Amino acid sequence: MTTSATHGRRVLIVGLGIAGIATALRLHRAGWEPVIIERAPERRKGGYFIGLFGTGQASAKRLGVLEAMGNRNHPQSKTFEVDRANRRRKGMAFADVPGAPRMLLRGDVENALFDALPEQAEIRFSTVPTRIEQGERGAEVTMTHTKTGATVTERFDLVVGADGMRSTVRKLVFGLHEDYLYPLNYMIGAAILSKPVRGYNLHDGLVLAEAGRSAWVFPFADHNPGVLFSYRVDDVDAQFRRPPIESLRKAYGPEPAGPVLRQLLDDFAAADEYLFDSVNQVRMNCWHKGRVVLVGDAAWCLTLYSGMGASTGLAGSELLGNMLEKYPDDVGRALVAWEEKLRPFITELQADGVKMRAFFTPSGEAQRILRSAFLRLASSPVTRPIFERLTIKDKLKTRDIVVQA
Ligand SMILES: Cc1cc2nc3c(=O)[nH]c(=O)nc-3n(C[C@H](O)[C@H](O)[C@H](O)COP(=O)(O)OP(=O)(O)OC[C@H]3O[C@@H](n4cnc5c(N)ncnc54)[C@H](O)[C@@H]3O)c2cc1C
Repeated sequence: MTTSATHGRRVLIVGLGIAGIATALRLHRAGWEPVIIERAPERRKGGYFIGLFGTGQASAKRLGVLEAMGNRNHPQSKTFEVDRANRRRKGMAFADVPGAPRMLLRGDVENALFDALPEQAEIRFSTVPTRIEQGERGAEVTMTHTKTGATVTERFDLVVGADGMRSTVRKLVFGLHEDYLYPLNYMIGAAILSKPVRGYNLHDGLVLAEAGRSAWVFPFADHNPGVLFSYRVDDVDAQFRRPPIESLRKAYGPEPAGPVLRQLLDDFAAADEYLFDSVNQVRMNCWHKGRVVLVGDAAWCLTLYSGMGASTGLAGSELLGNMLEKYPDDVGRALVAWEEKLRPFITELQADGVKMRAFFTPSGEAQRILRSAFLRLASSPVTRPIFERLTIKDKLKTRDIVVQA
């Protein structure tokens, strides 16, 4: 083990996802020297579908990366509500979702941020934090190389845990996962399809929503669509005791899948990369302790149902840099000010995420019927203006929280 003391304003950022890279970028501009550690041996690729709403777009623009992220919306994109027999009816196109999100792959967001990182940002792959001790002069962090087992201990002026929903920084500094993870009792499976769904255009979206389970196809203008399975469960642990595809087939059975669902399940089974996980919010009373702060999913995971995890990862990181710039000699004060500004917004989004869960996947038959009625209102030329007037009030996802703060 080696120990090194440093006297500059060094920040250790744990996690090379959206929140981690955005934090490195913003803090470097605020005069900090970022060191990023990432558990994976290399940068991850593509990933799943992301709708980037106004909150995230505003921060991305100020960080200078919005245009590099691009926009994979197709102007003629339609979304169909389908059933197992492939009976279809027009639903709400993703481009018409209130808040007009940019349709992206997670990789689009990460790549744009990564390309903007300064050369000086040091990145260490296959590295995890294994001990964090705080003293008056900073936080001493022991980092372990996951392949060789070699450890190094270094001192930092600030440690940012941007290591996702099951954050190790949170566990080391704040306590057990069980104290902060709030299970929503839903599972998700996500992958990129190898081809468009048979009988549909590349840029068509699909939603197959049944009581307690749904399958979504998120379209792009220039890329194979993403599939998302979302289903309700009582026993989350049981879902992990067999291969993901078996859990999915069981959850969507025993009825015959029909042509669309069959293709989606077969494609998921054949995918090289997929995500299969339980859905949990992270709920904490405080996101910082001493010189350690959590951002993104590590601090407030909103879940995919809110559609705001990437946006708040960007906005939270930008705001953190602003506050550290405002209070350059007082990290503690900066962190308090940061959390005071951000927390009310996150609290609203967490409540919204729980409500939106029923829109993604109705929990039972009554919710399915309600959802269907809601969509009819939103899609009909007669009732659409009323619907728009009602939803226009909902500016939650376009709120520029950093500027308002
Ligand atoms: C299917 C799906 C769809 C979604 N759709 C949307 C959407 O439409 N709009 C939206 O805004 N959001 C969406 N989200 C949410 C959004 O993707 C996340 O909120 C966001 O990516 C979280 O970023 P993060 O950087 O906080 O965490 P993560 O993306 O989880 O990144 C954490 C990083 O830390 C690394 N790490 C973990 N542990 C350690 C460790 N011990 N040491 C070092 N490194 C570690 C990981 O390898 C990873 O690179 C969706 C999420 C899912 C799953």
